[in-house]
Amino acid sequence: MDAAKAETFLIQNGFRMVGDWHAADVVLFNCCGGHGQRVKQSFSIIREIQRNKNPNQRLIVWGCLPKIYPEIFKDEFVDVTVSEVEFPRLKELGVGGSGAAVGNYLVAPWKYDEKTAGWLLRYQGSFLSRGFKRVGVSWVNYVNNHFNLAPAGDASTFYIKTSSGCRGRCAYCVVPQARGTIKSKPIEQLRAEFQDGLTRGFKRFSLLGTDLGSYGADLGENLCSLLSELVEVEGKFRINLRNVHPRFMMDMMDEFAPILRTGKIRYIESPVESGSNRILKLMNRPYTVEEYKEYIAAMQKIYPNLIVRSQLIAGFPTETDEDFQKSLKLLDEVVLDYVEVYEYSEMPRTPSQKIEPKVPDAVKRQRFLTLNKKALLNRTPRKIKRIILSQT
Ligand code: SF4
Repeated sequence: MDAAKAETFLIQNGFRMVGDWHAADVVLFNCCGGHGQRVKQSFSIIREIQRNKNPNQRLIVWGCLPKIYPEIFKDEFVDVTVSEVEFPRLKELGVGGSGAAVGNYLVAPWKYDEKTAGWLLRYQGSFLSRGFKRVGVSWVNYVNNHFNLAPAGDASTFYIKTSSGCRGRCAYCVVPQARGTIKSKPIEQLRAEFQDGLTRGFKRFSLLGTDLGSYGADLGENLCSLLSELVEVEGKFRINLRNVHPRFMMDMMDEFAPILRTGKIRYIESPVESGSNRILKLMNRPYTVEEYKEYIAAMQKIYPNLIVRSQLIAGFPTETDEDFQKSLKLLDEVVLDYVEVYEYSEMPRTPSQKIEPKVPDAVKRQRFLTLNKKALLNRTPRKIKRIILSQT
């Protein structure tokens, strides 16, 4: 979403995209600080650009990372310009020109030349790079680690940022420190953005929010009141929902059911994080594995074509082999279309830092690999998976 905003804004102000950041005058890096692996890769990229950029190139970094590690930016990256999370700051940094900082879609499909692709793949990450040149701005946007297939941006999708901040307090998560509590846009504004997307011919919409399941809590609304309005709009479209905390959606299932029945919700990403109730409790994720399984099955019963995405963390502190086996088993017990697996990483100032004992790195790594392999293999076509599950 921030990438879309920056792109629209810069192109409107006369910049041109360049595929190779080495050729750009300004490099923008929207970096993620959500978990250890991304932090490591984000810092590697910043160091690499800093080492190899020419003295006239400007590197501007934004996203959660500078907020989580202000001391590193202050001490090590003295010549890197750090921007706040919100987009309009770019204007103050002298990069953009005039005009409103709006943008819900990517102007052209993501593309990068071979040289840049090779450079990005050196980090074993799946990155997308975009650049602009008037004199030139290059945009390097971190997407996902280890060749995960989830794209951060897709030119056929209209992105709508509904809110920022979060209502959850998951023990391992640093995001509330960087983004604060939930702040939502009013439904009328979101409806107008949605209508704009339809008028522009978009058929796929993605609702975004750090904690989309909490949308509207600060306005006396909720995600379902927003969705009920959107699915009523005339037109042929489908909506993707990202970052929906299972607890919040479980509590709204009565309202969500009629929305699902419209067939307008294409996918929901609702991370489970562990297959062990003991670990979920330590993670401060207020639901049980049994509730999660029921919740997913209920949605799939109402709308069988719903695509369901989830996440699992391997090696949370105190995780025993028995807990880990439960996460593995969960993958056989629930029909998930896509599961992202993360290795637990210690983030600064989070409650899980104090939870002992920690899982040794080698064990954590092994569990991550095993879980990831199973998650990949489990991408069995849904119909086949249903047959297998019904026979066990
Ligand atoms: S709900 Fe999401 S963003 Fe909020 S603390 Fe939990 S994991 Fe982090």
